[in-house]
Amino acid sequence: MLLEQLREQVVQVGLDALERGVVHGTAGNMSVRDPETGLIAISPSGMPYRSVTPADVVIVDADANVVDGRRKPSSETPLHTMVMRAHPHIGAIVHTHSHYSTVVSCMRPCLPAILTEVCLVVGARVPVTRYGLTGTPDFGESVLEAMTPESKAVIIKNHGLICFGADFAEALGIAEIVEEAARVYVHALSANGGREPDMVPADLIPEMRAHFLANYGQNT
Ligand SMILES: [Zn+2]
Repeated sequence: MLLEQLREQVVQVGLDALERGVVHGTAGNMSVRDPETGLIAISPSGMPYRSVTPADVVIVDADANVVDGRRKPSSETPLHTMVMRAHPHIGAIVHTHSHYSTVVSCMRPCLPAILTEVCLVVGARVPVTRYGLTGTPDFGESVLEAMTPESKAVIIKNHGLICFGADFAEALGIAEIVEEAARVYVHALSANGGREPDMVPADLIPEMRAHFLANYGQNT
């Protein structure tokens, strides 16, 4: 079976995302790129996460053509391949319809700097796209327009969240952090009578982030 290890990663990240509550049912999709061939393993269309096996994962090329697989790839495959073509350093993508990120997508131009952790890991703001037409290249374009080369996450207008990483561990971790920040933001707005809550001071974020990126974790 072509790229069996990557197929197994797609199965596992779906189960992990389900367990951590960032996906439900058949919503959302995940992809990972093989650095050697450039081929992409992506979750199948419309299958519950617990029922997906490595043989159900589909291998596509950079233009979203199916190279190997017995299933139809995710209906949002062009979104994944467009992002990976435009940003060669991205190795894995996790797209979810997480509840609170989607709430933010319906009412704000971005998720602002509400939690220190999201500022450190993702950046000062997570942008919300313009509305893109699902199932057409316009959908992928709407995400690309909101991205910079440093983007770790974009909230998709009236739709959900998409997160990027070198691997699935990074992309899924970012999906969890952004969803938690969106949850806090929505609750803080509500508790504050709809007025904007206090934010992390914007002038402190660049230095905080540089310090975090230089010092966090264990030296290997
Ligand atoms: Zn979606």
